[in-house]
Amino acid sequence: MLMVVSIIFGAMVGSFLNVCIIRLPREESIITPGSHCPHCDQPIKFYDNAPLISYLLLGGKCRYCKRAISVQYPLIEGITAISSLLLFLRYGPSWSYLFYFSFVAALIVITVIDLYHQIIPDVISIPGIGVGLLGALIIPHIPFFNSLIGILLGGGSLFVIATLYQWLFKREGMGGGDVKLLAMIGAFLGWEAVILTILLSSLIGSITGITLMVIKGKDFKYAIPFGPFLSLGAVIALFYKNEIIFWYWQFRG
Ligand SMILES: [Zn+2]
Repeated sequence: MLMVVSIIFGAMVGSFLNVCIIRLPREESIITPGSHCPHCDQPIKFYDNAPLISYLLLGGKCRYCKRAISVQYPLIEGITAISSLLLFLRYGPSWSYLFYFSFVAALIVITVIDLYHQIIPDVISIPGIGVGLLGALIIPHIPFFNSLIGILLGGGSLFVIATLYQWLFKREGMGGGDVKLLAMIGAFLGWEAVILTILLSSLIGSITGITLMVIKGKDFKYAIPFGPFLSLGAVIALFYKNEIIFWYWQFRG
């Protein structure tokens, strides 16, 4: 029963994340006005605004103008609902569940906005650093000082990499947004996870970059935003940090 509640709660949060994804880059209010169809501007009635279900009932089309509703909406709602369920299965009804779910929700918004606009909004990452640090006072899974060192290591290491990159290649490789994002990841997950996140995201980012170069040809110069890879690395670190560290020490004999 509670599992179903966690899925529904996740889908509802996902619906709100969609609003954040669309409005935060435009610096619009995320509270008012209510949702509108982007094509015909008709206000969306509450009965057409149920996460996931409304999309299916409406057949993916606006009730009024029949233009397609972006697949982003059900996709984000579904991903958020699954994240909520997985975290609930791990942490149960607890502060830890809310702590990590708010973290994953922030990463989802950051990932999609970075993919669309190549920016990571400060209004998420900077308060996120504070929430992570304060949460470490309450949550049994992360000691406060680990969170604090995580912020310094996360923010500091990427800052050094970004500065070196700029100095070597005379162009900006990583934005300040990435630095603040990794500081937020450090605040929520601690310093070990920061190292793991850098390794994982560089690995996944390189593989993706090389794959794109092979597909699109050698002179492919499109700047791939790094935020989605940091976010993906952080989620893997959140779920599998202990297993990966254990495996690493075993591997070393
Ligand atoms: Zn419409």
